[in-house]
Amino acid sequence: MEVFRNWAGNYKYSTSHLHVPENTEQVQELVARCGRIKVLGTRHSFNGISDSTENLLSLQKLNRVIALDRTSSRVTIEAGVRYGELCQYLHSNGYALHNLASLPHITVVGACATATHGSGDLNGNLATAVHSLEVIKANGETIVFSRDQQDGVFDGTVVGLGGLGVVTKMTLDILPEFQMSQQVYDNLPLVQLKDHFDDIFSSAYSVSLFTDWKNATFNQVWIKQKTTNQSSDPMEPEFFGAARATARRHPVPGQTSENCTEQMGIPGPWYERMPHFRMDFTPSAGEELQSEYFVSRHDAYQALCAIDQIREYISPLLYVSEVRTIAKDELWMSPCYKQESVAIHFTWKPNWEAVQKVLPIIEEKLAPFHARPHWSKLFAMQPEQLHSLYEKLPDFQQLLLRCDPEGKFRNDYLNKYIMGN
Ligand SMILES: Cc1cc2nc3c(=O)[nH]c(=O)nc-3n(C[C@H](O)[C@H](O)[C@H](O)COP(=O)(O)OP(=O)(O)OC[C@H]3O[C@@H](n4cnc5c(N)ncnc54)[C@H](O)[C@@H]3O)c2cc1C
Repeated sequence: MEVFRNWAGNYKYSTSHLHVPENTEQVQELVARCGRIKVLGTRHSFNGISDSTENLLSLQKLNRVIALDRTSSRVTIEAGVRYGELCQYLHSNGYALHNLASLPHITVVGACATATHGSGDLNGNLATAVHSLEVIKANGETIVFSRDQQDGVFDGTVVGLGGLGVVTKMTLDILPEFQMSQQVYDNLPLVQLKDHFDDIFSSAYSVSLFTDWKNATFNQVWIKQKTTNQSSDPMEPEFFGAARATARRHPVPGQTSENCTEQMGIPGPWYERMPHFRMDFTPSAGEELQSEYFVSRHDAYQALCAIDQIREYISPLLYVSEVRTIAKDELWMSPCYKQESVAIHFTWKPNWEAVQKVLPIIEEKLAPFHARPHWSKLFAMQPEQLHSLYEKLPDFQQLLLRCDPEGKFRNDYLNKYIMGN
């Protein structure tokens, strides 16, 4: 039997029984017929969040942009659409999205389901752009959840962790298209964040800091700003003690910058600057593991100092670590629910045996800051601790029970971390 794995290759799905329907009617019929079923996006999650022991469903053939509504500035897509495809469509029609993750390869629906985010003080995670979603429930019936509905349930549906049913369509808010440029600086001392955290992160539309934790220094600062210039934006020689990069960079030491979006202040379309990685190239390191923790912006410097204290455990296992800011939102299961947030991310070498020993050490250090793990990455936290971090969890549990009373879309991950059984 074919073994079926996630993108990074670290997770083996429990079945290779994959359905690839051609249209929504076939999805409805399948859902009504199957005992248990889970949807796969592009399989970029690192844990068992999309696993099923019985049936996996890919919507890769449902990949059309359905409507562009210029009056209300919204676009409606089918659930197989990936950001890379949507971005090109939007740009060619004069529109943009407010933010993107580090890579454009992922599906919009799969990314929103796990509260995937980019960076930027004023940018909510990608799910905050969702205006409505169409879901096929366990009985095969279709239901639409929309921000316009007054019952407040919509905020529970968007970061749905794949538990509500099969999302078949999604409508997103869009913006007029804009140009951006990207600049990289080398070697920002961690201590600069003590007094200049806000100055550094509010200096541009989107800012990312990268470190290998070999020292108390960020090896790279990536600054993505909106621009109206036709030629390269001028770069200051210094940025809070960091020096202007003299050549293009890849965040992971030793990897080629060819895989990365254009830097050196050269202007270009929003979607070719906001992600770090280019659509037609391998993102990040390839064979890797990832973990990420969200803390309140207020605690971010202290949290980073706490990580700095254990960098001798982290650094040998690490490709690179990234720090980003995310605006607060109202989405029940978002790690940024009602909290201006900072995400501390780790791209690990593919050595799970060693990484799984270091995750509890990181989590212990971050526990005083009530750190919430990224839903789709690797963490060690016990369910009870995770539950205590989400005040809307009881409402979300009720919502899942309402949409899926028999647990057709539940799996070990959801049973353990959400339903608590
Ligand atoms: C190289 C790399 C870089 C990354 N960069 C970032 C980053 O910058 N920021 C960040 O926050 N995350 C990042 N991630 C994590 C990634 O964004 C998330 O794992 C995201 O959920 C992946 O989307 P996907 O399409 O692969 O969905 P999958 O991983 O396949 O699925 C994710 C969840 O969505 C559900 N789902 C998917 N489609 C549907 C549907 N139609 N209906 C119902 N449920 C559905 C699945 O069941 C599952 O629960 C990165 C991952 C990788 C591998």
